[in-house]
Amino acid sequence: MSSEERCVMCGEIIPEGAHVCLRCRFAEHEKREQKRKAETVQGYIMPVCELLAGLAEECGELTQAALKLRRVWDGTNPTPTSEEVAMEGLYEEVADVLLYIEELKLNRGTIGRIMGEKRERWKKRLEGKP
Ligand SMILES: [Mg+2]
Ligand SMILES: [Zn+2]
Repeated sequence: MSSEERCVMCGEIIPEGAHVCLRCRFAEHEKREQKRKAETVQGYIMPVCELLAGLAEECGELTQAALKLRRVWDGTNPTPTSEEVAMEGLYEEVADVLLYIEELKLNRGTIGRIMGEKRERWKKRLEGKP
């Protein structure tokens, strides 16, 4: 007969080979989830997955706003939207996207480095253009 096993975290009796009880496993999971959360300027706690979903949503709105302003200026396919409203929309969606980026607290140094590299690459491509 093997001696009964106990949870290494709380000492509760557990099935053979489990090492940790279900309650402690859940608590560990919750702790990891808390770590994934980011604090917003409003003081609420917003899970990172929701910040990413919000960013994706706002990126979609920014796409629409940029295309709308382009359509207003292009004039090929007329729209009842005025230039003023389209411009306002672009600023609003840029602000929304930047707000989410700010809340995600990404590494600014890394972003700056990649921007520098891409700017150089872009410049080179334009220089090679006939
Ligand atoms: Mg928006
Ligand atoms: Zn336990």
